[in-house]
Amino acid sequence: MGKILLQLPEGLKTRAIKLAKELKSKGNEVVIWGERCYGACDVKTLPGYRTLHYGHSKMLDIPNVEYEPWRINKDLVPVVTKALPMLPKKVGLASTIQHSHKLGEVKDFLESHGKTAIIIPKGARCSEEGQVLGCDVSGAVAIKDDVDVFLFIGTGLFHPMGIAYYTGKEVVRADPITQEVEDVDATKWIKARALRQSKAMGAKSFGVVVSLKPGQNQMESAGKICEKLESSGYPAYIIAVDELSPDKLLGFDVDAFIITACPRIVIDDWKNYDKPVLLPEEVEEVLNTYVHKM
Ligand code: SF4
Repeated sequence: MGKILLQLPEGLKTRAIKLAKELKSKGNEVVIWGERCYGACDVKTLPGYRTLHYGHSKMLDIPNVEYEPWRINKDLVPVVTKALPMLPKKVGLASTIQHSHKLGEVKDFLESHGKTAIIIPKGARCSEEGQVLGCDVSGAVAIKDDVDVFLFIGTGLFHPMGIAYYTGKEVVRADPITQEVEDVDATKWIKARALRQSKAMGAKSFGVVVSLKPGQNQMESAGKICEKLESSGYPAYIIAVDELSPDKLLGFDVDAFIITACPRIVIDDWKNYDKPVLLPEEVEEVLNTYVHKM
């Protein structure tokens, strides 16, 4: 019993009232957090309340914050059976937290059909093996040389595209909800990255944007990026925000922005920003390739 702040991502808000009812029936006082919540990085706390962060897996150690991941217990074998003809011998297995607990069954199934299957190890920001996040595909990168292909089980293209892009390997996506199976093509990401970078051509000053969300706050590395830019002759300014949106950067008189917050902002939303936006890892490349020193 106690005071609980219930926080859910947009896609699971339809469950909020049912969950709140259950918690209240056990004698808890409940406040539902109504603002948007993007990921395990985006944790809200209120004085006197214990936060129940629902949907995502544990990323941060924050006092009085408990994560409760949303799991889907759907049988994955039917969709993996469909993907089987597309898979070469050595298969790396990855998913999101909704299905990663079922990857052991997928491994057994594939191995009973003559494949070698490796579940990706736990990434730095993930909570368990098999899991990838939009900001962490390091588990897949770690085994890229041991597999011929990655089989990503889940919905949406962002995660498998990230695996394909950062490992350089073929990725097959199998969606257990729609039963769709497809080869994932990272060409779109590669082209978009080149276009984003070329837009930063000629930039002479930079805003380095830091989100203050607890799992996105990269103030220290933003400071290092600023130092590097300034020592190379480019004025650079740290801009702190809670939640970033294109309108918040409109008034700043710099030529380009480096976004140290969620990488999806740059990769998914770059076209919505008035000025070029870059990932931190792209700064050096852009300076060397495109930007002309003042
Ligand atoms: S930083 Fe972005 S991709 Fe990573 S957990 Fe947060 S919302 Fe998800």
